[in-house]
Amino acid sequence: RHDMGSGVSKGATSGPCQASTGIMKIGMDPVLSKKYMTLDQNGKVQAEYVWIDSDYWDGQSFDLCCKTLTLADSPVSLDEIPIWTYSGDDAKDIVIVPRRMYRDPFRPGNNNIIVLADTYQEPSGDEKDHGPATKFNTRAACESAMRRAEEIGEDPWFGFEQEYYLLDTTTNWPLGWPHGKYPDKETAFYCSVGSQKVVARSLIESHYRACLYAGVMIGGINSEVAPAQWEFQVGPASGTLGADDLWMARYILQRLCEEYQVGVTFDPKPVIKQAGIGCHTNYSNMATRSSPGGMDAIKLQCERLRKNHDKHIANYGIGNERRLTGKDDTASINDFSWGVGDRAASIRIGCKVAMRDCGYYEDRRPAANMDPYLVSQLLVETTLLEKEE
Ligand code: ADP
Ligand code: MN
Ligand code: MN
Ligand code: MN
Ligand code: MN
Repeated sequence: RHDMGSGVSKGATSGPCQASTGIMKIGMDPVLSKKYMTLDQNGKVQAEYVWIDSDYWDGQSFDLCCKTLTLADSPVSLDEIPIWTYSGDDAKDIVIVPRRMYRDPFRPGNNNIIVLADTYQEPSGDEKDHGPATKFNTRAACESAMRRAEEIGEDPWFGFEQEYYLLDTTTNWPLGWPHGKYPDKETAFYCSVGSQKVVARSLIESHYRACLYAGVMIGGINSEVAPAQWEFQVGPASGTLGADDLWMARYILQRLCEEYQVGVTFDPKPVIKQAGIGCHTNYSNMATRSSPGGMDAIKLQCERLRKNHDKHIANYGIGNERRLTGKDDTASINDFSWGVGDRAASIRIGCKVAMRDCGYYEDRRPAANMDPYLVSQLLVETTLLEKEE
């Protein structure tokens, strides 16, 4: 079902960076496409529904899905966008409920929208719109944690640093690398400039602009430690908004990769003998942002995170043990540590934050393929909601 060069490769160690889906890429004629895509829409609006479901039939990993509905008018708010369904893997339908609305950068200029939705079982008995959340709906539990935080007067913010690798779709090796070989070890590629170091900047620029157009809170971009490895930041954003926008930014990236005929992987360690890729999660709440006392709150919360290290690691991305080795600016998966300005710690508190005595801290453990709903939910539950004996 998902042939977009997507997400989680199954335990890649050497060879190809991602599991093959067994399809070949077929190029479409852009001139022909333009001929039809410039026709007017007869007043109708196209709504692209995007949601998360199982990536492989193993039911373990997850990825994006989408399909389109024609609307008669431009919806003014979320309630004007219909609840919809798609067919699940047994005889039952799955209900998709709109949660966020974005402008559609792929069908520009006509009020077309992308609708981020979450998934529920069909209603039964006296249930009105839908039944309980599906097992792939991690948003519902995240939203509920955010609501409980709100009830105690909290306002958690999240900022994500999404790293990823672009791939050659024929070889599944990082884009621009000679097949099976590595780029020069002596060259610094982080934040690099110039054609000898940079791969696919035009795709990355397109992604940045498309996110801005859509209304995704993209905070910036930078090239990473190897060519074809990039990062974008989302946030800071309150509650589930950050996680929603990160999923939308991933969706936009996947769609652009279809057009550019480039692959992308979020596997934590797609290439052996090279630094892996993560999704550092920057987090703050009322207590950490308050001055005075912010630093004390951060230290207290770090100790709560220490006690829950294993639970967090279990939800921070499949295959993360291949990345969190204690090398390449990571802490070992088996240890929890925090430190000021320490990129080898599990949690880094920025030097500026320590100086100002308040602000946010960076959880460096989440892998690039993590689910931001799970990570946000756990951070809030562990640091703000759990009762301590
Ligand atoms: P790094 O130095 O680790 O590469 P980046 O500049 O890539 O850091 O990312 C910093 C992140 O911190 C951004 O995603 C931003 O949204 C986030 N951030 C900034 N302020 C806050 C805050 N108060 N609460 C949560 N996240 C924040
Ligand atoms: Mn059908
Ligand atoms: Mn960064
Ligand atoms: Mn980075
Ligand atoms: Mn970081």
